[in-house]
Amino acid sequence: MDLTIRNVSKTYANGTQALRNVSLTIPPGMYGLLGPNGAGKSTLMRILATLQEPDTGEIHLGGIDVVRQKHELRGTLGYLPQEFGVYPNMRAEELLDYFALLEGIRGRLARREVVERLLRQTNLWDMRRQKLGGFSGGMRQRFGVAVALLGNPRLMIVDEPTAGLDPAERVRFLNLLSELGENSVVLLSTHIVEDVEELCTHMAVVNRGEILLEGEPLREVQAL
Ligand code: ADP
Ligand code: ADP
Repeated sequence: MDLTIRNVSKTYANGTQALRNVSLTIPPGMYGLLGPNGAGKSTLMRILATLQEPDTGEIHLGGIDVVRQKHELRGTLGYLPQEFGVYPNMRAEELLDYFALLEGIRGRLARREVVERLLRQTNLWDMRRQKLGGFSGGMRQRFGVAVALLGNPRLMIVDEPTAGLDPAERVRFLNLLSELGENSVVLLSTHIVEDVEELCTHMAVVNRGEILLEGEPLREVQAL
């Protein structure tokens, strides 16, 4: 099921034109949105996550109108913002359990199962009793993925996840993302060419709010 973006534009109140007539067709799998700082990536990500509205344009995921049917989309959305804020005094296991409860998983045992599966999947099981305040940037990002996965998202939005990570954490994080791309749309925004090259089956390059090119990473990156 594709995510289709048609003629989306967004101008901020101060006159900054963040997106100009953006159109993209994003198939299931790992999709990279590559561009420098200020290109408009976060704006597009926030619009797709229904946290902002475009001035004009249409966005659909399967039968869902992303702009007008926010609630339908939110039920099937995973969003990892650029800076995933956590509660420093809570333990990983405790906070994930809390988010699972908010997600509507009522039974204690059911929650325990889900929490364990997600903490293992994100390689955080051994850290489950540690306080989030002591987590490294990479650990926090992986925790953010665990939270995002609670809702079994069909659309996963990951905004500049590797920016602050050391090389080992970055590889670990990218490997985790690549496992997610198997049955949903995973949209990764980044200014790092290698993130897209190593991971994505499709990509677009955005600059000054415009799509410069769209295609398959190997071919397009070589042409840059
Ligand atoms: P990045 O370039 O790393 O994506 P941003 O420039 O988007 O970071 O800035 C991060 C935050 O600051 C966002 O919440 C964004 O909405 C806000 N922001 C960015 N530029 C402006 C601006 N010119 N005026 C007001 N808020 C801004
Ligand atoms: P990127 O994520 O690629 O760095 P952004 O979407 O954050 O790009 O920003 C695109 C442009 O919009 C930038 O010029 C930025 O300063 C501006 N911008 C972002 N958020 C805001 C905001 N809340 N108010 C005004 N300008 C903003």
